[in-house]
Amino acid sequence: MFAALDDLLRFDPGERGIGALHATATYDTPPVEAAARTLQEVATAGNAVLLTTGFPIPPDWQPETDGPPGTVVLARALQALGAQPVIVAEPRVEAPIDAAAEVCGLATLPFEPIPPDATTTATSEALLDRYEPGAVIAIERPGETADRTYRSMTGTDITAHVAQMDPLFALAREREIPTIAVGDGGNEIGMGRIRSTVEAKLEHGEQIAATTAVDHLVVAGVSNWGAYGIVAALEHLTGQARLHDPSTERELLAACCAAGCVDGRAGVAEPWVDGLSTAMHEHVVGLFGELSGHERTETES
Ligand code: ZN
Ligand code: ZN
Repeated sequence: MFAALDDLLRFDPGERGIGALHATATYDTPPVEAAARTLQEVATAGNAVLLTTGFPIPPDWQPETDGPPGTVVLARALQALGAQPVIVAEPRVEAPIDAAAEVCGLATLPFEPIPPDATTTATSEALLDRYEPGAVIAIERPGETADRTYRSMTGTDITAHVAQMDPLFALAREREIPTIAVGDGGNEIGMGRIRSTVEAKLEHGEQIAATTAVDHLVVAGVSNWGAYGIVAALEHLTGQARLHDPSTERELLAACCAAGCVDGRAGVAEPWVDGLSTAMHEHVVGLFGELSGHERTETES
């Protein structure tokens, strides 16, 4: 089951060259399984979990559709299993998070707004002190590069529009709090774990490679799918934490667009993700559901 999930995460219809990154990020245990096992423990203990997402897209720096849906679906699963999810991102990300939470039937999802010009180390320390999280998660979140900037996949400098979340992950690791990240382009938090592969294999790799590493890096063809994969793995481990269905995926994407998100590749407010059609995302969600549901049926019989 975990190997099949891992295979699905390698699906790369956007032709981003995910295969090389995925292979480098995979160790003895598929990262999606390791992340889910860690989160199962954290949720059982009732701990807080900090989740960050939101990639700004030029020219208006709206958040892209990749990130918020995956973050909210994972937050819902963690909440159902006993954890206390808290979203941490720039103020502009709050509306899409709220819209996605409503589609997922979540009344409230605590949100900590961090402006792009926040003093990041102090802010990160305060967040860790206040919530004492059991895990910190980044899903499609800009990662700092070697020249201390933030970059789009094509190398555009987006630094002025990004709240620096890298210190949150560095400080969490110092405190031995588990860190998890999902990415699909090499420029996201977590990709520091496979930086040399990003630099060698991707166009603009040396310029965009993120330097911040995490304990468990889930590489996927689309970052939302990586988050859904973790939920499917949690569902398999616990028999709970159900993944959403394909029609809810359609609603999630529409709600995020209505709340200000744009497609990261096309830059338009259409319910696409990474230039891939809504139908593509519905089908992938259906496949994740089939994988985890089928296995659960076998286990129960
Ligand atoms: Zn990305
Ligand atoms: Zn993406």
